Amino acid sequence: MKPALNLTLQGIAGSPGITIGKAYLVEREDVDVVEKRFIEPENIPAEVRRFKEAVKKAQKQLQGVIEEVPGEFRKHIYILDAHMMLLKDRMIYDGTIEYIECENVNAEWALKMAVDEVKSIFKKMPDPYFRERASDIAHVSELIMESLLGTGPSNISHIDKRVIIVAHDLSPAETTQIQLEKVKAFLTDLGGQTSHTGIIARSLEIPAVLGLGNATQLINTDDLIIVDGSAGVVILDPDEETLTRYQERKDLFEEYQAMITRSSRLPAETTDGFRLTVMANIELLEEVVSVIDHGGDGIGLYRTEFLYLNRPTLPSEQELFDNYRDVAEIMAPRTVTVRTLDIGGDKFASGLQLAEEMNPALGLRAIRFSLQSPGIFEAQLRAILRAANLGNVRIMFPMISEVDEIVHARRILNQVAESLDKAGIPFGANIKVGAMIEVPSAVIMADILAKEVDFFSIGTNDLIQYSLAIDRVNKQVAHLYQPLHPAVLRMVQRVVEAAKEAGIQVYMCGEMAGDPVNLPVLLGMELDAVSMNPISIPAVKRMARVLSLDESKLFLKEALKQPTAADVIKLVQDTYESSFRKAAFDEVLE
Ligand code: PEP
Ligand code: MG
Repeated sequence: MKPALNLTLQGIAGSPGITIGKAYLVEREDVDVVEKRFIEPENIPAEVRRFKEAVKKAQKQLQGVIEEVPGEFRKHIYILDAHMMLLKDRMIYDGTIEYIECENVNAEWALKMAVDEVKSIFKKMPDPYFRERASDIAHVSELIMESLLGTGPSNISHIDKRVIIVAHDLSPAETTQIQLEKVKAFLTDLGGQTSHTGIIARSLEIPAVLGLGNATQLINTDDLIIVDGSAGVVILDPDEETLTRYQERKDLFEEYQAMITRSSRLPAETTDGFRLTVMANIELLEEVVSVIDHGGDGIGLYRTEFLYLNRPTLPSEQELFDNYRDVAEIMAPRTVTVRTLDIGGDKFASGLQLAEEMNPALGLRAIRFSLQSPGIFEAQLRAILRAANLGNVRIMFPMISEVDEIVHARRILNQVAESLDKAGIPFGANIKVGAMIEVPSAVIMADILAKEVDFFSIGTNDLIQYSLAIDRVNKQVAHLYQPLHPAVLRMVQRVVEAAKEAGIQVYMCGEMAGDPVNLPVLLGMELDAVSMNPISIPAVKRMARVLSLDESKLFLKEALKQPTAADVIKLVQDTYESSFRKAAFDEVLE
């Protein structure tokens, strides 16, 4: 018998989990090799027409994919919408036509030239997230190229057994065509943490290892492979001993996952009886099921931008109302906190003409935009107020930086309520109103702001960005983004104290709240609730159940004395090592 290869490949950990199975290699036509042909001047108009036809065909094909997108992928449909727009992107579309007309070349060659130009611009960008977007250009140009060459896309919709998908790169259009129940894991040569495959795999809880370089050259269909998505490791043709070791690891991991998911229904009650409310952050109606499955006590943040993105027109009040009502009705009697539009900054909407800004994070975003766009703001407020009549809905304003903004926003809210009342349209008259505390000036003024609202929600994603001066989307400074930075802890503490003093509730809905490591300090502050990505809820609830409120309060005092983030982290580790082990997968592994 041939000895096992037992070849270990190291890639990027794209999505956690362990799986063992047979590979399925996604073959693709090599659309990169195209020939340059000269076109006689009299044939140029026909060549341009051929290109336009190919784009139309690609649009139709993509539209077909979009219409068929199954429910579990709906959250990611915006990626396909963006590809639809890229098909007509000026630099690609007009650029190709220009090449055909000016250089007298065939459409395939002209497309390649135009696309290479755009890709090189993206590749030079310092931020890896934007560099990664060069892959979107590649996927879109592949679609056009396939319809020019008359070749079909790789057909992965017919896979009939459970396999590990191995691909050079997967376009979002391809990913959405795969029947999920057939996928044990994703492996790709290209891509990183921020690639679409990574984002989709994580939200679907399917293990993935990305950026493997040459996996498609080493792995063939039906090869036996082990995938450890947590470590970013792939083992090709494992020997008996490795197989047994990973089988055990896999069983334990699954046992652990099942156990924390089961126990996520239990309340997050500390050993000394304090009950922490653990809620979810969502962006889509479809995620509500995941909130309930993961044991969420409510929705602490409904980011409402999605309905405004990637469309030429704005959503109507009725469309917004239908959406909010559905979320409220499914979650009832649990709380749903609807945040008004937080457009601008790193979130764009194509239906709105936003000016280009030098510093978008410091520009016309969130409440600032809403207060300057009364029509858009009022339509959203009316929809939220109407939905509040049918469920336990609260309203929250983002990026409050001064008290006038709250006063102004509340005045508009009251006017909207009066007009609904006059028109005899039912609405939630006693809706609770909250402010997101995510700008340092709001932290400093928290005692004054607390008099104007019913609750605070601390948005640490932005609070850290603005207070530590770290661009949240710039990966070059990502290592400086420290939730346990003493400055952040002191600010959070100040906000909590102001809220308690005023007798209002205080939550945290930034990413910081979803990491169990941060829980001892947050618990020590006695936040009323934390809100996070639904899949983080089971682990945070589990952690809360091994901690004690009294000990956390004492711990917080020590943490607040530390001079640096590293000191706080060390203190957390030294104090809570055994609790973390008790709550985490490590204990199961030992
Ligand atoms: C935050 O800033 O922490 C927050 C929760 O809001 P977003 O991430 O949507 O800006
Ligand atoms: Mg924010």
